[in-house]
Amino acid sequence: MIRALFMGSAAFVLAVVAVAASGPAWDGVRDLSDRLTGAATQTPAPTSTPTVPPPPTATPTPSLPPNPQALHRWDALPVHYCVEETGSGFVSIAEFKKLTDRAFAAWGVPSVDDGVCRGPDVQGDHVNEIGWGTPPGAPPPGSRVTEAGVTLTTYSECTANCRADDPVHLVEADIIIEQSPPRQFRTPDCLYSTLLHEIGHFLGLGHLPAPAVMQAETASCLTRLTPADVAALLARYGSRAHPAG
Ligand SMILES: [Zn+2]
Repeated sequence: MIRALFMGSAAFVLAVVAVAASGPAWDGVRDLSDRLTGAATQTPAPTSTPTVPPPPTATPTPSLPPNPQALHRWDALPVHYCVEETGSGFVSIAEFKKLTDRAFAAWGVPSVDDGVCRGPDVQGDHVNEIGWGTPPGAPPPGSRVTEAGVTLTTYSECTANCRADDPVHLVEADIIIEQSPPRQFRTPDCLYSTLLHEIGHFLGLGHLPAPAVMQAETASCLTRLTPADVAALLARYGSRAHPAG
C-alpha cells in the first residue's frame, strides 16, 4: 500500500508493505517467568519483622494492553529511529528531521531520535531508517497518481506458547518519502502530513476511513490526528501513548 498524490483532484494514497520476519518465534513465556522469578527473589516474605517498611512505591511502567486481535505494534518502548542524510528532497535534512520528530511527538508513543543513520537504508538490519527516496512500485511519470511515501515494516509473529498480550510485534520499520513529488505538494505541511501518515504505519496502524490521517487517499495534506487515528493508536498502546488528538 502506497500513499499517492493525485493530480487535479489531488488525493494522497499512502501505503504500508508488511514483510513477515523469517526468524523464529520468540519465547515470550520464558521472558515472563524470568521476570516473575526475579521479583519473588527480590522481595522475600518477612519472617518475624512486622515493621519492615513497605516496598518502594516507584511508578511501574504501564504495560501494553491485551492484544487479542494481534494488532501490529512495538512491544519494546521507546521505539528508535534515525534519519538518513543521503538523498535530497525539497526541504533540508534539518527541516526533515524536525518534521519527523514533530510527527512522532504527535502520535505520542515513546520514541527516541537516534540522529543520523550510521549505515545504508536497508531492510533487515533492525535499524528504523527514515529518509528521502523513490518509493518502490511508483507509477510512471505523468500519471495522475504519485506516491508520497511508503513504510516497509517487518514483524515477528508468535506461533507457539504465546502470551495473550503480545502475539505479534514489529521488529523493523523503514520509511521512504518521495523526494520529488509534484510541485504543489512540496510544502512543509504536505511533508508533515505524509510523515504523520507513514509514522502511523511505522507504529503498526493500517488504513482507516476518511477523514482520518490514516486514510488511504486524501485530497488534502492532513496535519491533525482525528479521533479514529487516536482510537487505533490507543488500541495498540493504551496508556503508553499520549497522542495529540
Ligand atoms: Zn498508508
